[in-house]
Amino acid sequence: MSEKRVFNFSAGPSILPLEVLKEVQANLIDYKGTGESVMEMSHRSKEYKQIIEDAEADLRKLMGIPDNYKVLFLQGGGTLQFSMVPMNLLRNSKKADYVVSGAWSKKAEKEAEKFGDIKIAADSADRNYAYVPKVTKDDFRADADYVYICFNETIHGNHFNYIPDTGDIPLVCDMSSCILSEEVDVSKFGLIFAGAQKNIAPAGLTIVIIRDDLIGFAADDCPVYLDYKIHAEKDSMYNTPNCWSIYVAGEVFKHILANGGIKPLHETDVKKAGMLYDCIDQSSIFTAAVDKDSRSLMNVDFVSGDPELDKKFVAEARERGMINVNGHRSVGGMRASIFNAMPVEGVEALVKFIKDFEKDQ
Ligand SMILES: *Cc1c(COP(=O)(O)O)cnc(C)c1O
Repeated sequence: MSEKRVFNFSAGPSILPLEVLKEVQANLIDYKGTGESVMEMSHRSKEYKQIIEDAEADLRKLMGIPDNYKVLFLQGGGTLQFSMVPMNLLRNSKKADYVVSGAWSKKAEKEAEKFGDIKIAADSADRNYAYVPKVTKDDFRADADYVYICFNETIHGNHFNYIPDTGDIPLVCDMSSCILSEEVDVSKFGLIFAGAQKNIAPAGLTIVIIRDDLIGFAADDCPVYLDYKIHAEKDSMYNTPNCWSIYVAGEVFKHILANGGIKPLHETDVKKAGMLYDCIDQSSIFTAAVDKDSRSLMNVDFVSGDPELDKKFVAEARERGMINVNGHRSVGGMRASIFNAMPVEGVEALVKFIKDFEKDQ
């Protein structure tokens, strides 16, 4: 069996901790003496109940999720949340205000327009999302049902370096590509969601963290799966959840807890991103796509300005065992996604390659 591993800079599905993959491998056929694989296990079995309960408890511990928040394990990706959020949270004025800081918040805003009176409170399209807009309470309609942001724009490589003050208006936040990379005060948000395939687990699982008082407002004709209340009442077991992905997520949570929680992970993330941005800032060929104060720790976007040179860089990186450093098809250039599981050695290898590549031109 081949054990060859590349450095995978994919933006999702993305790299997972090798220790977790090995743990999962060791239990693949006979999960802890049950004689069955988690892939084959009934989601109603007592073994699986333990798996999902542990996963939730560990996530609560890691993020310090207060008791008045429910944790839901859903399917449908971040994309389904673009619909579920307005379908459930447009509950009074049917107004919601969106901050559009990149491709994902743009998609969310477009989808929400189907359901209510949606306003773009601020946007940074003028410079192709090279920064995150600074917003204050005055930017939002006082009667808005919620305010929406995307904390880390995976495609454009930017990140909120602050939590907007929305007063009493619930703040909804897409944390798909930065969850568990930094400590956040969950109580500042009404709802947080994250697709698992960026920083947590295999694709097919979306985690929703929602404050109790925001549950129960879906319309009567809301499709059953799209109502947060159903999932909250049934502890994410209304129907068959993504058992496998929840299991791997749980193993990732255990792994992070065993290594000291989010804080040391964040310190390493800051170090990794710092090494890469420093190298790009000093480069005579490449420039970073995002302003210094808005840069993502997870998705590092850079360009040479010459699409042919970018292509050459991506191809040569692949030859050196560094894959998926190409930018998203909508923006071009390069994007190195350096999620929690990317070892420092992977970033060191990329930095070295950038320097070597530059010398060769
Ligand atoms: C990947 C991503 C999404 C969409 O996720 P899907 O699971 O493909 O629907 C939404 N928001 C952000 C920030 C993402 O990175």
